[in-house]
Amino acid sequence: MEKARQIFTPKILASTGMDVKKIVEKRVMEEIRKYPPFKRVLIALSGGKDSASLLHIIKNFLPDKDIVPVHLNLGIDGFSEKSEEFARMQAEESGLELTVFNLKKELGFTIMDAKKLYPKICSVCGGIKRYLLNKIAYESGVDIILTAHHLDDFLVRMLKSTLNAKVEELIRFKPYLPRNGNLIAKGRPFWKVSESLILRYASFESLSFITERCPIGMKKNIERLRRAIDILATNENQKNIYLLSLMKIAEKLEKTEVGMGKTQLRPCSSCGFLSSNVICSFCIRVKKIRSFIEERK
Ligand code: SF4
Ligand code: ZN
Repeated sequence: MEKARQIFTPKILASTGMDVKKIVEKRVMEEIRKYPPFKRVLIALSGGKDSASLLHIIKNFLPDKDIVPVHLNLGIDGFSEKSEEFARMQAEESGLELTVFNLKKELGFTIMDAKKLYPKICSVCGGIKRYLLNKIAYESGVDIILTAHHLDDFLVRMLKSTLNAKVEELIRFKPYLPRNGNLIAKGRPFWKVSESLILRYASFESLSFITERCPIGMKKNIERLRRAIDILATNENQKNIYLLSLMKIAEKLEKTEVGMGKTQLRPCSSCGFLSSNVICSFCIRVKKIRSFIEERK
């Protein structure tokens, strides 16, 4: 486990734009250098500042990599169209062509449709996005998927799992997950960088990004947790210390019976991607959503 003091960066609040640039790029590149070698990388572009910053850094520091920028258009009224526009702009600014997966066109439903069946839409939407990115990566011969989850995302996710005693979730959320069969390796190189630092980075680098948030997310609990974390950790270093503590707990739990008895994965009998169930949750949900739409016609 990395010592908290190793990632101390004093006086971040008083730092200039150039300092922020150096800090963010250094932290991201230090992470990426720890990964096994890779050539082809999928970057999930949401249209927001986090993934825009990630693409910008990878493009500038790893020009030899084969980058596949992918945007998932979820069909959320008044939001998805604009998000796609920004994602396209970000890819273009990096000289890359964006791959767009449009849920409505490809699967026959939108996340708005899914919300009618699953009112707590975020976990379903998150699962659909993870599955699709993995599928696209697998079919495009990608070695690793990079996502822009940052320090605040990690803290919220891990604290939520701890408070709800969801040990498996706590153990599973990691900065790097190696490839396992048809599940492509995943890297989250922003895990030591706070959201506010990324915002300053994206602004300093004059990146284009959407500022609106998804209008349908039921994230009241998450917002409360975020506020609680901001009260507990008044600066970036404290956030890093808390996150390392949560990771230490997760590491210890992983070595106990709970962690050792990890669920065995097997190919989903419908799509073939590895799953802990006979039929994966993506296939089950897609079937349910489609029948739900049919019934309402
Ligand atoms: Fe999906 Fe929820 Fe994110 Fe909206 S806020 S894109 S519904 S996960
Ligand atoms: Zn499946």
